[in-house]
This record gives sequence, structure tokens and C-alpha cells, in this order.
Amino acid sequence: MPSPSPVAAVATVSIHTLAAGSLTLPERFFVQPVDDPDARKSVPSLSFLIHHESAAQVTRIVFDLGIRRDLQAYSPQICKHLATRQPVTSRPDVVQSLASGGLHPSDIDIIMLSHVHWDHIGTPSDFLHSLFVVGNGSLDLLSGRTKLENGSHSHFERGLLPLDRTIQLPDTSPGRPIETSEALRLRGRQVLLGPWHPFSSLPHTIDFFGDGSLYIVSAPGHLPGHINLLCRTAVDRYVYLAGDAYHDTRLLSGECEIAEWRDSERPDLVCCIHADRQQAKETINRIRALQRGETLLGPVEVVAAHDAVWAEVAAAKDRYWPGKL
Ligand SMILES: [Zn+2]
Repeated sequence: MPSPSPVAAVATVSIHTLAAGSLTLPERFFVQPVDDPDARKSVPSLSFLIHHESAAQVTRIVFDLGIRRDLQAYSPQICKHLATRQPVTSRPDVVQSLASGGLHPSDIDIIMLSHVHWDHIGTPSDFLHSLFVVGNGSLDLLSGRTKLENGSHSHFERGLLPLDRTIQLPDTSPGRPIETSEALRLRGRQVLLGPWHPFSSLPHTIDFFGDGSLYIVSAPGHLPGHINLLCRTAVDRYVYLAGDAYHDTRLLSGECEIAEWRDSERPDLVCCIHADRQQAKETINRIRALQRGETLLGPVEVVAAHDAVWAEVAAAKDRYWPGKL
């Protein structure tokens, strides 16, 4: 009698939450309608440590660097914007959170930034050996070649990233050829970034390790280059790290719409927390389908960077590093 075929081994990653500061969001800039135009909500700026192990090696990735430890080190425009987000806390930052589980910046192979807004960029200069991965368009924001006029949060920092250790992902625009895959060397091993492929209901993903454990997901709308991560943490379990695809879970549930407001200094200017509101809506729709289990992946746990309720439960359940999701 033939022996039963073994269950195929499935590659997974482990995810660990990292505390990386907090800020306060005026509700009217994020959702509409709002009951109280003065309502404000303190939220974390979460980062995540992702651990991948193969027979050959261990790879540690940090997704987002949260709020900068030294707030004074932001640009004058961001310091001005910070006044609208008070209270802001910056301790522990990512480096201090990593240390609480025994890791040093030199242990981190790769840093992926969901996008380059001030509350996700931390202090890159702490990571002297890590490779940085950013979505397409991020470098033009940082250099000033792309300028946005959608609110006081849209200021970027030239020289933020070490360009000799930074890879920008290829473009996904329809009708445009995908750039040749960029290759980077990760401690002697070659990693291919791109081209983009559909996976499940997601039109543009990159299977980062080539084993189905970690997909970079193009999540357009919030800011050029906005990326999310879809992580397989068990045979039948996926977690989706949504960055700033939404800032309020009522957008995911469909109870509220994405807010717009008029700039206080330039009333002719209609602002939105997302650079492209329509694309942001479409990204939220895709994430909602994942969360509700409407895809072949089954129900996916979705975590946005500023979800205060999720963070509170995560703390109670020991899901912060060295604990895991
Ligand atoms: Zn953002």
C-alpha cells in the first residue's frame, strides 16, 4: 500500500510588532462625515520585524521605521506640521524596540519603507549596513523632482536614504514596459526585485523570497511608491501590513469616506491625506476583500500602521517583539 504523500512544506515568515512612537490625528483630515470637527485620536506609528529562515540563511527585514527619535532633526516644514499632530512621542523608537529583544541595527538585512512620509522614515542613518527598499516614485519625492500640494504632511527629505544601498522597485503602470529586474546582493546572495505579477486578487505583487512567504504589494493612492506586505505566517494564515492605505478602520468597514478639506492658508486648495484619492479607494477595496475572506486566501488579518485598537490588543497578547503575531 503506498504511504500517504507528505504534506508539502510551506515557507513562512514570522512577524513581530515594533513600537515606534505615536502621534495624534485630527479626525476630520482622515474620514468624513465626522460628528465632532475637533475630534482627535492618538495612534501609534507601528513598525514590524519580519524574520525569514531558509536552509541557507536567516533574513531580517524591518517594515517602516516609525517616528524619528530626535524630533528636532526633522526639516523645518515637518517640524511645523508636527504642531498639528501633538502630542507626538518618539520613544521607544525602532532601534530601542529592536534592542528590547536583543537585536542591533547591524542585525537588520533589509529595511522596506511603506512610503516616505515623516512618520514612517525614522532615523535611517542608524542602519549603517542595511539595504533599503522603496516603492517606485519614492526617490523623486525625496529629491524634490515630484512635488505634492495636498497638505502640510507632504514634505520630504533630500538625502534621507543612502542611495548606494537603496533599491527602488520598478514601475507597474499599465502600458509601460516593466523595467529590467533590479538585483541586489544580500550578504552574498542575489535577490531579485521585480517584475510585478498578480497574486490572488492583487494585481501587482513581488514574491520577495521566491517561496511564497512574503509578497511586496503595490498599494497605490496614499503616496507615490506606497507598498504593503502580504506575509504568510502559517500554512493557512496570512497577515497583510497595510501601511497608510487607511488611517481609520471605518474606511475599511465602509462606514466612512476618505476626507477632503480646504487648506487654511490657501482656501482654493482642496487637500486629502492621500495623493490620489481614487486610487486610495481602490486599494482599500482590495484590502477589504482580503480581510473579509473574499479571495482564495481566506480571511486575512489586516494591520494598518496607525491602528490604535489593533495595537492595544497586540500589546495585551504579547505580539510585540520579542513576541510575535
Ligand atoms: Zn503617510
